[in-house]
Amino acid sequence: MQNLQAFEEYISEPRNVVIVTHVKPDADALGSSLGLSAYLKKKKHNVTVITPSDYPEFLDWMPGNKDVVVFQKEKPGPCETLIQQSDLIFCLDFSTLNRINELGEMVRNASAKKALIDHHLEPENFADFIKWDDGAASTAQLIYLLIKELGDVDMIDADMADCLYAGILTDTGGFRHSNTNYTVLHIASELVRQGANPYSVSKLVYETNSLERLRLLGFVLSEKLKVLPEYNTAYMVLNADELKRFASQTGDTEGLVNYGLSIKGIRLSVMITDRKDSVRLSLRSLGNFSVNDLARKHFEGGGHRNAAGGQSNLTAEETLQKFLSILPEYKDPLTKADN
Ligand code: 5GP
Ligand code: MN
Repeated sequence: MQNLQAFEEYISEPRNVVIVTHVKPDADALGSSLGLSAYLKKKKHNVTVITPSDYPEFLDWMPGNKDVVVFQKEKPGPCETLIQQSDLIFCLDFSTLNRINELGEMVRNASAKKALIDHHLEPENFADFIKWDDGAASTAQLIYLLIKELGDVDMIDADMADCLYAGILTDTGGFRHSNTNYTVLHIASELVRQGANPYSVSKLVYETNSLERLRLLGFVLSEKLKVLPEYNTAYMVLNADELKRFASQTGDTEGLVNYGLSIKGIRLSVMITDRKDSVRLSLRSLGNFSVNDLARKHFEGGGHRNAAGGQSNLTAEETLQKFLSILPEYKDPLTKADN
């Protein structure tokens, strides 16, 4: 952490702490928040984890889950109070305050000190304490490293280790993505030493599908997945009726976009989903092709070079047309071999 000494000093007395993570939190977002929360509680701080929205049911097993406060648009008061009364706000697994919706301005305007711990590209400059590394595969590993910097690795118990391990596991796609390296595997093994159970975490995260979710996967692969060989690109569009037909819950579409990228020769995969508030895009790429740049430029989004998201105010079909119309701009990088 930059200015570690000042940070250490600040947390040397009990503080009111809020931990906030990005909208529709995934296992890294929630796992790093609950792992850090458990650590700070052991250090005698008063800690609340706030999420800007709900999150998938397959994360409910995480120890500490029942104490998470989910922000409600119709009733912003409780979160507003927590944020206003806090001394320290941790922002985990996002790099710009617009990723936490309505909470963004509350956090910006709060008198609390702010700490950013994250691995997304192009961080906004709002924090007093920063631990940011776009070379890190996950925020969870940065939490581990922070605890280590503070000399407290031995305080990591099995519950905390499971939360952090889950973040690393999922942000590396099960230790398969190009962000998997020595550091990642080393930290994962340190967490196992502290009590994380790789088998049970994998089972809880990857093998608790509902039957509808599996049916949705089958439907998407057989009916919705399209390929544009001239652009080495795959795409899928899911409209609201289809999501309803498969009783799609938060998180059910997570990971579907990766199937496009698993096709030999495909360098870019996009999934467009018609969500209640807006149309969402989920993008994945191989090698040097930056979906962060594409999402930032055309779809008010961002993320990492090879995994990003965005949104659009058009209909799902119009969003697809927009996506198809910008592809020629990227023809060269999509077809020129770099890996
Ligand atoms: P996913 O496609 O799984 O929703 O997101 C892929 C990556 O991009 C994640 O690291 C996620 O945090 C990030 N991401 C998703 N949507 C957005 C967005 O709208 N803006 C930004 N800046 N990042 C996003
Ligand atoms: Mn992450």
